[in-house]
Amino acid sequence: MTIPLVTTIRERCRVCYTCVRECPAKAIRISGGQAEVIPDRCIGCGNCVQVCSQKAKQVRDATADVRRLLASGQRVAAIVAPSFPAEFPEMPYRRLLGMLGRLGFSVITEVAFGADLVADRYRRLLDGAEGRRYIATTCPAVVEFVERYSPHLVGSLAPVVSPMVAAARVARRVHGEDLAIVFVGPCVAKKQEGAEFGRGELDAVLTFPELRVLLSEAGLGPDSVVEERDFDPPLARIGGIFPVSGGLLRTAGIDDDMMTGDAVVVDGRATFVEAIREFEAGAIDSALLEVLACTGCIMGPAVTNRAPLFSRRRLVARYVKDRMAHFDSERWRSDMARFEELDLSRGFAPADRRLPGPTREELDRILARMGKVRPQDELNCGACGYDTCVEHAIAIHQGLAENEMCLPWTIDRLRDTVDALNMSHRDLAAAQDALVHAEKLASMGQLAAGIAHEVNNPLGVVLMYAHMLADEAGRDTEHGQDLALIAEQADRCKRIVSGLLNFARQNQVNRRPVELRELIEQALRSVRKPDGIRVRIEVAGGELTAELDRDQMVQVLTNMVANAYEAMPGGGTLTLSASLDGDRAVFQVADTGVGVPAQNMGRLFTPFFTTKPMGKGTGLGLAVSYGIVKMHHGDITVESNADPGAGATGTTFRISLPRQGRTD
Ligand code: ADP
Repeated sequence: MTIPLVTTIRERCRVCYTCVRECPAKAIRISGGQAEVIPDRCIGCGNCVQVCSQKAKQVRDATADVRRLLASGQRVAAIVAPSFPAEFPEMPYRRLLGMLGRLGFSVITEVAFGADLVADRYRRLLDGAEGRRYIATTCPAVVEFVERYSPHLVGSLAPVVSPMVAAARVARRVHGEDLAIVFVGPCVAKKQEGAEFGRGELDAVLTFPELRVLLSEAGLGPDSVVEERDFDPPLARIGGIFPVSGGLLRTAGIDDDMMTGDAVVVDGRATFVEAIREFEAGAIDSALLEVLACTGCIMGPAVTNRAPLFSRRRLVARYVKDRMAHFDSERWRSDMARFEELDLSRGFAPADRRLPGPTREELDRILARMGKVRPQDELNCGACGYDTCVEHAIAIHQGLAENEMCLPWTIDRLRDTVDALNMSHRDLAAAQDALVHAEKLASMGQLAAGIAHEVNNPLGVVLMYAHMLADEAGRDTEHGQDLALIAEQADRCKRIVSGLLNFARQNQVNRRPVELRELIEQALRSVRKPDGIRVRIEVAGGELTAELDRDQMVQVLTNMVANAYEAMPGGGTLTLSASLDGDRAVFQVADTGVGVPAQNMGRLFTPFFTTKPMGKGTGLGLAVSYGIVKMHHGDITVESNADPGAGATGTTFRISLPRQGRTD
């Protein structure tokens, strides 16, 4: 399996969609939260490599191949791209070439001579054009683009090899067919060209950063002392300016004047696709369209020098100028003549990678999925990496993009999720409070049960002896009456203790079928109704029954009724209701009283919590009720408002019990 030209380093990709935006071939698919390069669609322009701030795109590495070649004992040539002065401004070029020699390259030539030859072929092509229009093919990314995305233009691609291939053919002609050839340059797409078209012509394509790796491995730097040297012949004339935008035309002496209209130069990611589309539409009538994916090869993705365009241009121009100062035109002419008949032609094959688009209905459906129903919903914000929402939707249809890439849509969804999370967080917090409360009550129950057991027996003794002594003293005597008071208070203590035992669930539940309305009525009868209070009974449906411990449940309802009356000193309404909810019986006791202040809500069921004056409340009513309800495997909840500012005050207790008894 061949390694793809450009791949994503998963750990580094932050899915910012910058590469999606910058890819002229739309060869990047977002899937599973990763920006993945589709090898089939990639034209190797290296834009994604250049724009990724996370350095998450890696280019197929050739250093291992080159190391192997250099160690093989075979003669290896380095053919160096004319953009090299923009990459290595830190040392005289002769020193750089000396270092290449030190690495083991036995032949070092300049691709610029190949450019001279290629420029000559272009001139010949245009001379015989006879109205035909050509797209220049020195940029391999542009060639790949046309073959894949404008396949019917393949016949318009100038049938001339690139300077790299021309230089390789020249080197073999001069130094023998067994020469291994390594191209050194600024381009990612050249690796593809070297691997596919140039099969057998190039042995490896090394980028400038890869060459730097080899140099530093060999301990070679700008200050290294090496035997400086020049390029091996044949030497170039002005082919050296090839990597500057318009370099081909200038080298070939072709006029790129708009007035004469022989040729047009277009470069850069943003415009080259457009230029090809215009060429396709017949809007460009020049004989030659020189298109480059980068702003000249000096701005190629594998140039490490970050200097701006014009500084790089100056570096290349200065180099060419220096060389021209010692230019041997006689020799150049004879070299050109020597390779005049060298075959520099090539052909192209369409490799259609266009994907079918959606129908109008499919497009509308995809847009609707992203919440874009009306034209004004299409914000065309570009955050997804596509210029318009429609382009994004088309890419989704083609399997290249995902809904989630739409930022406004994702923000909306996130907002919903945050709301839902908040809600469940609140539910969780409430459940946690309830748990803590239940736990507290359970441990209090254990304590209460322990004390109750211990106190019960001595109380029995006190009670028995108080009665005996009272009988002995005579009930009418002063002593007898004192003793009767002791007995009465001891009796009260016993009731409290048995209440504690109820709370602690230490009693048995005696389940019998009971009628819910009857329980309510019995509870109401047990407490005297103060004046000014209206009582309503609401029992849904006919006769509602459940298996409950009648006495215990009456005790619960009585407690609630008594509390409700006391909460309505100025009168009000008490509503008692019973209903069935599936397999549960539900009682509600609602009053329009003063309510429970928020700070007391968590303490209502705690034993001995009371707000009533000494001697009036024991603080056991609700605790005991809680115990009874729990013994029935039921739930008791309370809602209350004590703040008149927040609405009508009042309290509602809700008791939900299983209708059928459980055996556990
Ligand atoms: P007690 O009635 O002896 O105080 P309870 O356990 O029955 O004991 O009630 C505890 C406390 O809960 C009461 O003192 C009161 O503050 C509050 N309470 C109970 N029911 C109501 C109600 N319906 N309205 C307002 N407060 C109530």
